[in-house]
Amino acid sequence: MNTPIKPLQNCGKCGLCLGVCPVYRELKEEQASPRARLQLIKAFENNILESSPLLKQIISKCLMCGSCAIACPAGINHYEKFMDMRQKMVADLGENKEIKSLIFLLSKESRIRRGAGLIKLAQKLTPGWLANKYCMGNIPLKRFPELNPTPLRKKMAETIQPRGIKKGSLVYFTGCATNYIYEDTGLSMVGTLTHLGFEVIIPEDQTCCAIPLMFHGAQNLAVKNIITNIEALTTHKCDGILVDCATCGTALKNEYPALLKKIIATDPLETHQPWKRLAVKAEQIAKKTMDILSFIAAHRQELVFDKTTPNMGQMAYHAPCHSRNSFNLLPLVQNLLKELPFMEYSPDLDEATCCGGGGTFFYEHPEIAKKIMDKKLFHLKSIKANYWLTDCPVCRINLSGNLDESENIQVIHPITLIHRALKNSS
Ligand code: SF4
Ligand code: SF4
Repeated sequence: MNTPIKPLQNCGKCGLCLGVCPVYRELKEEQASPRARLQLIKAFENNILESSPLLKQIISKCLMCGSCAIACPAGINHYEKFMDMRQKMVADLGENKEIKSLIFLLSKESRIRRGAGLIKLAQKLTPGWLANKYCMGNIPLKRFPELNPTPLRKKMAETIQPRGIKKGSLVYFTGCATNYIYEDTGLSMVGTLTHLGFEVIIPEDQTCCAIPLMFHGAQNLAVKNIITNIEALTTHKCDGILVDCATCGTALKNEYPALLKKIIATDPLETHQPWKRLAVKAEQIAKKTMDILSFIAAHRQELVFDKTTPNMGQMAYHAPCHSRNSFNLLPLVQNLLKELPFMEYSPDLDEATCCGGGGTFFYEHPEIAKKIMDKKLFHLKSIKANYWLTDCPVCRINLSGNLDESENIQVIHPITLIHRALKNSS
């Protein structure tokens, strides 16, 4: 008997997603396109195609940037379909040992902390010639950022009082990158928010947002992180939950509620109650979560800049994919940067193109990542900026990791620059 083909998606094969896909634009092969991935998923789900290392590789050759979903006139949610398919591929074929180790590390905060300690030690002990010779993905080891001397959440009090009269309380979800790598972003977040009159609470018990686990098919482990974060973020009364990374924002705003809904829809009835309680909390978190640049744009008039701040020169902005595609933040950030009085910024045509970082994409597919990055660098360098601004830590690692020190360009989060120009900012 012939099994009817399931209409898994309504792809009309128009090809509009091809032109926006950073991977397809480099490889120019149909199998590297979002359209082909969807067709392969459809064939797999209809039992026409079996799991195979080749199929897994094609599915993984994707930055999970979400640009295809934005361009698609049929409204297909590529992101969700790719995430589900990755999970199936990992369930059938397993994961390579490097990614397995990363997942093991990120699924428990104590392991992340120990792992960060080991990396710090390795950074200290690795001789320069070795760090120069070897790369992680497309980035030479010597150009990886040094880890924070102390994790930010250990260094800061859990509650930091505002300057002047208190206007409200904000919970800060730091994510792993700010906690362990980029403390300058975290210190600037706290400095700017307290300058604006907000009490800042940094819950000690938070952990990795779980997006890397979800991207690599480890949904069971992701759920544990999600539960930890939901409890940590709802312990304190607050007026808002702020993130400095669009990917963490995507997790809190979109992925947590979506995953919990899915669990409730597929789980036996007797286990519904705890999941429902978590789902309610996840919805509360989603409503309260805001990225720092949107928050700053809303409070722009309350920032008091130091009039003696010297002009910091030319800026270029790199818009992270999740900030553009999940939250459409690019116009807001452009307007905010244009208004800042201590720097020169004009939008550049290339600022909305992907840098090729894509979580672990730069490590798993270094040749493609390098090609994407080379084009990005060519455009960025033509602006002759002193600072490249970006609000995603992986983009920051990728951009600065592909720059030569001699170029004398700092890659930082926009909040750091804003904080530096505030009155009494130190
Ligand atoms: S844009 Fe949408 S409908 Fe068009 S080919 Fe891509 S997935 Fe299919
Ligand atoms: S998510 Fe990005 S990289 Fe992946 S298929 Fe879509 S456009 Fe291409």
